[in-house]
Amino acid sequence: MNTDDLHTLFRLIADEIRSGLDGLDNWGLSGGHPGQYHHDVIADTIAIPLLLDAGLGVISEESKSQGLDRPVVAIIDPIDGSTNASLGIPWFSTSICALDSEGLLVALVCNQATGVTYMAERGSGAEKDGMPVQPSTTKTVDDAVLVFNGLPTEYLGWKQYRTLGSAALDLCGVADGSFDGFIDFSSGLSAWDYAGAALICNEAGVKITDHVGGLLRMPYHFSDSSSHVQLVAAGTDSLHELLVSKSEV
Ligand SMILES: [Mg+2]
Repeated sequence: MNTDDLHTLFRLIADEIRSGLDGLDNWGLSGGHPGQYHHDVIADTIAIPLLLDAGLGVISEESKSQGLDRPVVAIIDPIDGSTNASLGIPWFSTSICALDSEGLLVALVCNQATGVTYMAERGSGAEKDGMPVQPSTTKTVDDAVLVFNGLPTEYLGWKQYRTLGSAALDLCGVADGSFDGFIDFSSGLSAWDYAGAALICNEAGVKITDHVGGLLRMPYHFSDSSSHVQLVAAGTDSLHELLVSKSEV
């Protein structure tokens, strides 16, 4: 399967999930693992066979890993922002990222409420609905509109902030310049939350690291997909450096 095939497959999966959720009556908890909703299960049930049948291994938030000995493995969050989906808030997404032995390869993050779709391929840039994305040029915190996962314990001097509930979409919002930067003040994100958005950020020119400024080392997730990372991202190196210095608060 080449990268064009991966783009096509990921778009198909996003479309199939959107169709599968169309007309869903019960957006409540599934009774499965804590915080798992019916829509998470439906989306996972649609996506996993399509990924496996295409010859990919799978690491999913909602089910056990399969086929990790395959040369390309997809990390998927069938629905990122599941609570938003259950509340009818149009900020929830499907995130899929293919990894090979060199790291992040092809990514899709699709807002399943609006259909807005971000895609990226290693070395080929990032796009939003087919148009190249450009991050912001903001260099200082007092000029910045920041988006948070979790909340800081004190005011850090930002111009404005949002906390929206889908880290994948939040990070894509940094890639396209909607937000100047992102900080995770929670106990950290899992690989399925950010793998797709991390490639989209990388390819857009966003600096994205862990909270002490360390580069993300994605292939390690093959062996430990459950570890959590607190991310910091910004459109400029200057703002990123300032956000890293404040991310311990
Ligand atoms: Mg999820």
